[in-house]
Amino acid sequence: MNDLNILNNETVALAKKIYGDGFIPLHRPVFEGNERKYLVDCIDSNFVSSVGEKVNQFEKEIAKFTGSKFAIATVNGTAALHIAVELAGVKAGDEVITQALTFIATCNAISYIGAKPLFVDVDIDTMGLSPDSLKIFLEKNAEKRLDGTYNKNSGKKISACVPMHTFGFPCRIQEIATICSDWGIALIEDAAESLGSYVDNKHTGTFAQLATLSFNGNKVITSGGGGMIITNDIALAKKAKHITTTAKIAHPYEFFHDEIGYNYRMPNLNAALGCAQLERLEESLLEKARVASQWSDFFKVRGVNFVQAINGSNANHWLNAIILGSKKERDMFLKFTNKNNVMTRPIWTLMSKLPMFQDCQTDGLKNSLWLEDRVVNIPSSVPDGALKDFKG
Ligand SMILES: *Cc1c(COP(=O)(O)O)cnc(C)c1O
Repeated sequence: MNDLNILNNETVALAKKIYGDGFIPLHRPVFEGNERKYLVDCIDSNFVSSVGEKVNQFEKEIAKFTGSKFAIATVNGTAALHIAVELAGVKAGDEVITQALTFIATCNAISYIGAKPLFVDVDIDTMGLSPDSLKIFLEKNAEKRLDGTYNKNSGKKISACVPMHTFGFPCRIQEIATICSDWGIALIEDAAESLGSYVDNKHTGTFAQLATLSFNGNKVITSGGGGMIITNDIALAKKAKHITTTAKIAHPYEFFHDEIGYNYRMPNLNAALGCAQLERLEESLLEKARVASQWSDFFKVRGVNFVQAINGSNANHWLNAIILGSKKERDMFLKFTNKNNVMTRPIWTLMSKLPMFQDCQTDGLKNSLWLEDRVVNIPSSVPDGALKDFKG
């Protein structure tokens, strides 16, 4: 057997040691707390839909956990991003800078407004938007006018920038925020993957005017489906609540809507699940860190690059990631592990390669292309029973 075969075999063996036999998913939710109780409470109360106490509670608790002043719950993370992009002032025909190495939701949300993504490269170590590349891109392509920054090639306004904290590893958000502020470009953090990740002990999603979270079934904690907009700006918070609840003016019985709104409010049932999950978040993060350190020790002695948070930041270990030597090694690894009941997955196909974004401007995406060929996610769930001692 060659080294790669040994690595693949031993990876499967360690996954089985951590998670037991049978199919091992990449990430699955754990319901070992108050989930059933809160769901039943919700049904018994009759408040199962978009009005209810659990939604308000979930919002308050997420605001507290992240250290943001306001949180507005939505049906999913994509809807949260859609609203954040709209509230940041992005208009149809504008351009929005983001990374090509992201999940589709980031680019879909930009497109819902009728804006177009501009793809700037990521840093190799964070896998998130590179401040150096962003600066170079703007200096080369952009000009400041009285009403904002424009793309000299397309003549379009560059109205926002949406970096993403890939797999929960924080990107260099402080540097990105400085550049955006210098250029007068609105900053929105896609923190869908980074609940529980920090930069300088400040929660990701609190460096921008607006940020969004996701509680999809595969995320760190889940509400079944759900998302959240977080902000410190009371006007934006009020506006977000208003347009995600059909823009209805509060009244005991009359219907009056003062603009086009969305039916994007998170249902109470989902929030009930979310509240129960949130009670276990700190503990889940500890368990995930324990799993990550097992993988880290394993890959270190085998000379494989196991991705770690950069200095000054802390990852939530949502999805563990390794960087293999080549696309060929990656493909062999994926094939072997998946065949042996251990789910592993390549990083996303770059957004710039998808049919609907193929004509978007890029900066060459050198690092993104390199990572696209080599990054693999490995099983990262909290192991069964790890949270069993809960007395909540
Ligand atoms: C999960 C995710 C979202 C939001 O997804 P939903 O499934 O709509 O909640 C947005 N951006 C990124 C990068 C994500 O991983």
